[in-house]
Amino acid sequence: MTLLLALLLASVPDWNAVNAELLRHFQALVRFDTSDPPGHEAEAAEYLRKVLADAGIPVEVIAIDPKRPNVVARLKGNGQKRPLLLMGHTDVVGVQPEKWKVPPFSATVQDGYIYGRGTLDDKDNVATALMTMLLLKRLNVPLARDVIFLAEAGEEGSMQYGIAHMVEKHWPLIEAEYCLAEGGGIRRHNGRADRMLVGTTEKNPTAVKLVAKGTAGHGSAPLPDNALNKLAAAITRLAAWRTPLKWNDTTRTYFEKLAMISPPEQAARYHGLLDPAKSAEIQDYLRQHEPMHYSMLRTSVAATMIQGGYRVNIIPSEAEAVFDVRTMPGENVDAFFESMRKVVNDPSIEVIHTPRRNVPIGAPSRLDTPLYRILEETQKRIYPGAVTMPVMSTGGTDKAYLQARGVQCYGIGPATDDEDGAKGFGAHSDQERILEHELYRFLKFNWEVATAFAAAR
Ligand SMILES: [Zn+2]
Repeated sequence: MTLLLALLLASVPDWNAVNAELLRHFQALVRFDTSDPPGHEAEAAEYLRKVLADAGIPVEVIAIDPKRPNVVARLKGNGQKRPLLLMGHTDVVGVQPEKWKVPPFSATVQDGYIYGRGTLDDKDNVATALMTMLLLKRLNVPLARDVIFLAEAGEEGSMQYGIAHMVEKHWPLIEAEYCLAEGGGIRRHNGRADRMLVGTTEKNPTAVKLVAKGTAGHGSAPLPDNALNKLAAAITRLAAWRTPLKWNDTTRTYFEKLAMISPPEQAARYHGLLDPAKSAEIQDYLRQHEPMHYSMLRTSVAATMIQGGYRVNIIPSEAEAVFDVRTMPGENVDAFFESMRKVVNDPSIEVIHTPRRNVPIGAPSRLDTPLYRILEETQKRIYPGAVTMPVMSTGGTDKAYLQARGVQCYGIGPATDDEDGAKGFGAHSDQERILEHELYRFLKFNWEVATAFAAAR
C-alpha cells in the first residue's frame, strides 16, 4: 500500500460503526427532557462535555445559570484561515405528553423513524456536529482553520442564557468567520429529495401594540367613539393592507430555483412575481394559498392578541391589539411604522413599536462564498437530483446574533418529507420524528462539508 493510499483510508470513517455511535449519542440527547421553559440543559450539556473530553477535545462549559449551561469545544487548525463554528441548541419546546403515541423523550425507533421531541429541532444538529468533531479528532484531520462546537441553551425563547450570553460575554470563544446551524434542510417530495434549503437570512421579530381610547359609558347607550369599534376598524384596515413587496438576493434566487423544480403553472407564478403587470395578482394568490411565500416577500403584519372590556354593560375606555410584525432585512423600520400609522388612519389610536430582540439585523449571508459553494457541491453528491437554494426564514433563529457580528451563517438540516409536516410529524409537533437513515445521511453531509471546508490541503 502506498503511503498516500494509507493516509486516504485512514481518513475515511467506517460509516456503519459511526452511524451506530451517532444513534447512541442522538438517543441519549433526545432522552434528556430539556423542555424550555424551564430548559434544564445541564444533563445534556454534561453528557456532551464528557463525550468531548473523553475524546481528548478541549471543552468548556459556560453558564450564567448552572442549570442552563452552554458547551464550547475547539479543534485547533494551523491558523491559516479563520474558524468555522458548528452550532446547535440543546433545549426543546415543551410537550403535551398525553398527545404523543410514544413517550416524547423516549427516542423510540419505529418503522424507520426515530420519534421524540427535539429529533428535528435541534438535537439532530447537536448530535451530527458532535459526531463531526469526534471524527475530525479521531481521524486526525489536519485543519486550516479552527472548528468550534457550540451547544447552546435557551434557543426556544430564553436566549439570555444561551446565544446572547455567549455573544456578549464570551465572544472570543465562539468568534468565527463562518457558521453552520439550524434553519435549513433537505426537502423530500414523494420520497425524493428535491431541494436543499440553506438558511441565509431571516426576518426580524418585533411587536406593535395599538391602543384605542374612547369615552367610557353605559352599554345601553352606544357611544360614537367606542374604543372597541375604533380598534376593530383599525385591525380590519391592517388586515387588508398589502405591505410593500421587497426583494433581496436570497429571495430572488429562492423563487428562481423553486420555479425550476415546480410544475409549469406554479413555475409561471413564481416567475410572474417579477412582472409588474402580474405581480399584484400573484401576491394575492400567495396570500391565500402559500402564506409563507407571501410573507417571504415583505414585512408581515399579523394580529395575535386583543384585549378590552370587563363587563357586558360597560363600554370600556380603552382597548388594545398586539401585532406580530416581522421586518425584512434592511427594512427602514421607522418609515415602515409611519406607513402603518397611515393605514390605521386614526390619530386617537396609539401605535407603539417594541423590538423583541436586542441585536441589530445583520446582512444576509452571501451566496458567493466558498462555504456556500461547498454546501451546493456536497449536496449534489450526497443528495443527487436535488437543487440547492438559499432561503429567508420568516421565523427567527440564533443565527441572527452571529450575523449581527458579521459571521457568514448558513442554516442546514436533515431531509424531511414535505408531506410529513401536514400529517403532524414536523418540528414542534406532537409526533416529532426523523427518518433514521436521513440522520445518517445528514452526518455524512456534515462531515464532507466540514472536511472540504476546514481541512488543510
Ligand atoms: Zn431550533
